[in-house]
Amino acid sequence: MKPSTNPTRFHDPQEILKRADAKIPPLILPEPRTVFAERALRLRQLAAGHAMHDFLLMLAVVCDAQHERLQHYPDVPLPTDEQIDLARLSGYPLLNTANWQRDPVWRSELRALLGQALDKLPADSPARSGVQAVIDLPDDALEQQADRLLAGITLSLDIAAAPLIAAGLQLYWTHLVTATQAAHKHPFDMPFEPNHCPCCGSLPTASITKVRGQLEGQRYLHCALCSAQWHYMRVKCANCGSIEGIHYQALQHVSQDEPSEERAAVEAETCDQCHHYLKIMHMVSDTNVDPIADDLATLTLDLLVSDAEYRRYGTNLLLLFGDDESAAKLP
Ligand SMILES: [Zn+2]
Ligand SMILES: [Zn+2]
Repeated sequence: MKPSTNPTRFHDPQEILKRADAKIPPLILPEPRTVFAERALRLRQLAAGHAMHDFLLMLAVVCDAQHERLQHYPDVPLPTDEQIDLARLSGYPLLNTANWQRDPVWRSELRALLGQALDKLPADSPARSGVQAVIDLPDDALEQQADRLLAGITLSLDIAAAPLIAAGLQLYWTHLVTATQAAHKHPFDMPFEPNHCPCCGSLPTASITKVRGQLEGQRYLHCALCSAQWHYMRVKCANCGSIEGIHYQALQHVSQDEPSEERAAVEAETCDQCHHYLKIMHMVSDTNVDPIADDLATLTLDLLVSDAEYRRYGTNLLLLFGDDESAAKLP
């Protein structure tokens, strides 16, 4: 994959509103055959010449292993019709991380995933000892770390091990979501513009604007855990829902609030009402953007907006920072 120079221009808000009449899918589930493989490719593409080169390449190896394990994931218990009805009635996500009973298979699949990554990491890679340490963690320690990670609690979370444990949780939940969709008709309900994942209840990592056909210009939030994407209005804060005081900042240049043809592929959408931000990635500027990979590679944008006193909404489970309040906050 090479960086795209797609000549398609941005649509203005009027055009996007006209398209609201078209059938816009409220929820786009991850494609098991490509989701992790494409992320691995994107990480390698972004790693070239990047200050975080080694880290991005190590994660690419982990994503390759996620891809391979997902193609043959063991059967795990899926939600029953009763659980689907209950979730619909309660308004809670069906596979909510806060109360879904994780099948122990997630741990054996995590260890297998990390074993495969270890086979591919160079012999002199400093990441090897960390990967082996997670493989060797006792079951109860793994479960404790997983609980903290999923709840966004960084107190007593092993920050170095967290991305590796998160990779196993992403693998399990991505399988769970896609297998549930295959086994049931319309298992996932869509509350009106949720700011947490309608499938698993996790925070988004970033948002993405689409290209091609009826999705052109439509914006989706991307789940940090299961990679589901759900529709969300443009120019609206994902944290507090405000449509006023929304601005965009990018590394290359300070972009205009209105869409423009030269818009950067990754921007921070900041909100003056609640002083939070979420990154927004534009496929029209680069068709290969991946919310999770591109978020990691634009850490300097986080530093830029946190200098201006904006706090991050959302999280990237593959790179957390020590904080006793929330996994979502950067230093
Ligand atoms: Zn999710
Ligand atoms: Zn806000």
